[in-house]
Formats: sequence, C-alpha cells, structure tokens
Amino acid sequence: MIYLNGKFMPIEDACIPVLDRGFIFGDGVYEVIPAYSRKLFRLAEHLDRLQHSLDGIRLKNPFQNEEWKTILEQIIAQNEGDDQYIYLHITRGVAKRDHAFPVNVPPTVFIMSNPLLPPPSELLASGASAITALDNRWIRCDVKAISLLPNVLLRQLAADVRALETVLIRDGFLTEGAASNIFIVKDKVLLAPPKSHLMLPGITYDVVLELAASNQIPHEIREITESEVRNADEILLTSSTKEIMPITLLDNKPVGSGKPGEIFARLHTLYQHYKATQMRGQLA
Ligand code: PMP
Repeated sequence: MIYLNGKFMPIEDACIPVLDRGFIFGDGVYEVIPAYSRKLFRLAEHLDRLQHSLDGIRLKNPFQNEEWKTILEQIIAQNEGDDQYIYLHITRGVAKRDHAFPVNVPPTVFIMSNPLLPPPSELLASGASAITALDNRWIRCDVKAISLLPNVLLRQLAADVRALETVLIRDGFLTEGAASNIFIVKDKVLLAPPKSHLMLPGITYDVVLELAASNQIPHEIREITESEVRNADEILLTSSTKEIMPITLLDNKPVGSGKPGEIFARLHTLYQHYKATQMRGQLA
C-alpha cells in the first residue's frame, strides 16, 4: 500500500499526471527512513533533513512533523514485514511546463514502503568492492533532490564491473559514495569528511560518529585526500538501507589487509546494539 496525495491505495492503482514537475524537471526532494520492528528510526533527524531539502528548493513543507509521523505509521501498519524502509517523495506539483515555479499549485506527496533487509552476512564477512570516480554532481549535494541522474550514472559505473559502490572524489578530496557516505580508517583513527554542500548529511553518518564518540573510538572529522583513501587501512560505507559495510577492494586493489577491519567490526556491533536499544526505548 502506498500513499499518494491524501489517499492510501495499492501501488498498481497509483497514477501521476505526466505534467508533474517531478516527471518533467526532477523538481522535488525525497527521504528514505528505515523502520525496525515497525518503529521509525531517527524520525526527527530525517524530518529535519527533509525540511533542509525543502528549504533548499524553496518548497513549503506540506505537513507538520506530527502529521508526517501519523501518515508514516499508517503506511508501516499497512505493509508487510517488521523491518521496512519508507521512501517519501514531494514534488512541486502539476503545472503547464515552465521552468519558473507555478503559483498556488499543491505539491505531489508520494510515500511507499519496501522490505528492509540487512546486507547479507557473507558480504559483511568478505567486504564489498568499490570503484572511484570523479564527483561530477552539482554543488548542492546536501539537498536530497529526486533529480538523481548523476548519481545513477556514477552508481552504474560500479554496477558495470559488479562493484557495490562508486566512491566519489572532487578536486582531490573524498566527498561520499553515489548513494552512501564513506569513512576511512588510518592508524586506528576513524576519519570522516566534514559535512558541506558537497555531500548529503547522512543520518547513519551521524549515528556512526556518535557511536565512535561514546565508545572511545578515536575519530576525526576533516578533509580526506584521494591518496589517503587509496592508502586507507579500512574503508567503510554507511546508509540507512545498508547500515555500515566494509569496502575491502577499491579499484581492484585490496584495502589494507583486504579483509574487514577491527574498527568496522566494532562499529557494526555497536550499530546493531544501538538499533535494538532505540527500538526497545520506543516500545517502553
Ligand atoms: N549520500 C548519498 C548521496 C545518499 O544517497 C545517501 C542515502 N542513500 C547517503 C549519503 C546516506 O544517507 P543516510 O545515512 O541518511 O541513508
């Protein structure tokens, strides 16, 4: 069951007019929110980021946070599986094709849910492969815009060689992955690129840094050079759907020992524990 403009319906029944600005211009923003045991994970943070994205494209938020929560919980209740990921999408609505904003046009709001499966344990045990590419996206990557063509093309470069992700380099520095944030480990220090307009402020990125801080894992937030990425002891990927994963092969060369490292193992365990306590907290 999906939600479209105020109504719940099977996805097969959902229709969008061809003049929707999402279709015509990619004029909209989205969020992906995981739900574990049918409880929304870090909802407040996801809704804050949604507001930031809406502000970034000058589109009014159609709902108050409490209203979002009610609708999202209804979607979760109407779909199968205790663990789901919610995709929500807002466009600037339907109007005669013209680049400038239409006046008094209601936004299109679409929400769907899909089963949320953790990465397979074999992949966590072996680590995943990634490639690098130049980050040729726009310079508002902090906005979670639905116009994802550059990300699609960059991710396809990885898919073409059966790699999991494309690690992006801009002006000699690490930004993020095509659909994830990237951390490296050097000499037992976890390094994260600083948030800026050149990367999406990941919700999982924040969780990982909080876990590092509260568990005495040495960490630093600073610019990371391409050569530091290539000489890292570990590379970690984070996202709401992939959680935290080790990258053990980069451009066909082993990362560090070529096996998932110690910091990955610690953070992965801490992440699973954190998830469980969050969900128990909400149930209490
Ligand atoms: N960067 C990009 C470009 C992404 O698309 C995503 C999410 N898929 C992330 C980072 C990770 O963000 P989050 O942890 O909030 O899922």
